[in-house]
Amino acid sequence: MSEPRLPKQGTPREELFARMREGKKRDADWRGGRTWSLIYPAGEEVDSILAEANELYMYENALNPFRFPSLRQMETDVVSMTAGLLHGENAGGCMTSGGTESILMATKSARERARQERGVEQPVLLAPKSAHPAFAKAALYLGLEHVQIPLDDDLRADPRAAAELIDERTALVVGSAPCYPFGVVDPIEELAGLAAERGISFHTDACLGGFMLPFLERLGARVPPFDFRVPGVTTISADVHKYGYATKGASVIVHRDADHLNRYQLFVYREWPGGTYGSFAMAGARPAAPIAASWAIMNYLAEDGYLRLAARVRQTFRKIRNAIGETPGLCVFGEPQMSLLAFGSDAHDIFAIGDVMDDRGWCLDRQRDPDALHLMVSPEHDRVADAFLKDLRAAVESHGDAREKEARYS
Ligand SMILES: *Cc1c(COP(=O)(O)O)cnc(C)c1O
Repeated sequence: MSEPRLPKQGTPREELFARMREGKKRDADWRGGRTWSLIYPAGEEVDSILAEANELYMYENALNPFRFPSLRQMETDVVSMTAGLLHGENAGGCMTSGGTESILMATKSARERARQERGVEQPVLLAPKSAHPAFAKAALYLGLEHVQIPLDDDLRADPRAAAELIDERTALVVGSAPCYPFGVVDPIEELAGLAAERGISFHTDACLGGFMLPFLERLGARVPPFDFRVPGVTTISADVHKYGYATKGASVIVHRDADHLNRYQLFVYREWPGGTYGSFAMAGARPAAPIAASWAIMNYLAEDGYLRLAARVRQTFRKIRNAIGETPGLCVFGEPQMSLLAFGSDAHDIFAIGDVMDDRGWCLDRQRDPDALHLMVSPEHDRVADAFLKDLRAAVESHGDAREKEARYS
């Protein structure tokens, strides 16, 4: 698609965009509802709000909030709206580029706290096996030892195993609400309780659930406790660029105690001829557009809008979960509590079924241990759910036939 080297002469605008549009044809068709991860489309109206907000703040830099007070206000608003959803009464936080960066900052804060309060010099990060790889990355980048909490039969972190593993070196205990691989919420109360008894930080990874579980709860769903109402939860990450429906590059890290933000997360450097330099996140220069897009979409949708979208997701998810559960040869792993699930098969090769679905244009991610296909429902999937399920049943049946034939002729 692109030239191997910087071209000598410029490309005319029309040709440039024609080439980009051509290249895009090979990309996943998310607008058609064909993708089941990565993008969370919420309809044309949401698209156009995001596009306008992005364009309005295309050039600004969120590195220095004092130069752009409008940006500072929007970031403060997004953080406080998010903290409100998570029941953080005296909370403080900041926006980051995504879940990974929020997790890096939570880990860094926990490491600093463990060092300052308990003198921990060789810190350990204790996270469920199903926790996002961002925790392994954070441990590696920030010099913590990464120890995994095994899962129970229900695919949630096993709190008894966690109790065995926790010790004086533990700087951070983690639980997911929900975890990405299976969509189940870890026993946050028990895990956070173990941490709190010992003065250890606890992070709820609500990157996925932060903008969905609060609305499912309002809709009357049984939502396991995961937010600041649970004693011992010290930080929470929530991605606005997932079920908050903002464009990419937007997450929030919230501390239960606003003081911890300055005490453990903030980086300040005063020994530079360029002046005093302060930063709350990994990035230096920060794009303004994700902040503006988050602010715009949160205020545009508001509680009403998020409730409507959550209701759509919930209905589609139930339909898909039930249909998969009732399909002979397929099974859903664990009891997914939100809007995503993994399914496998004891009768068929699940990856072969995935290949048939690929051929029909559906993008389902593969998982290992156990072998599974993974899907995450977003609001616009209500338009394609029936077609998807029809293709899935056909894929299972055709695959069943193929197996029988194989057996007959071998
Ligand atoms: C997506 C995700 C992350 C990481 O977020 P990025 O925005 O991809 O960096 C962390 N935890 C969970 C549960 C996630 O789903």
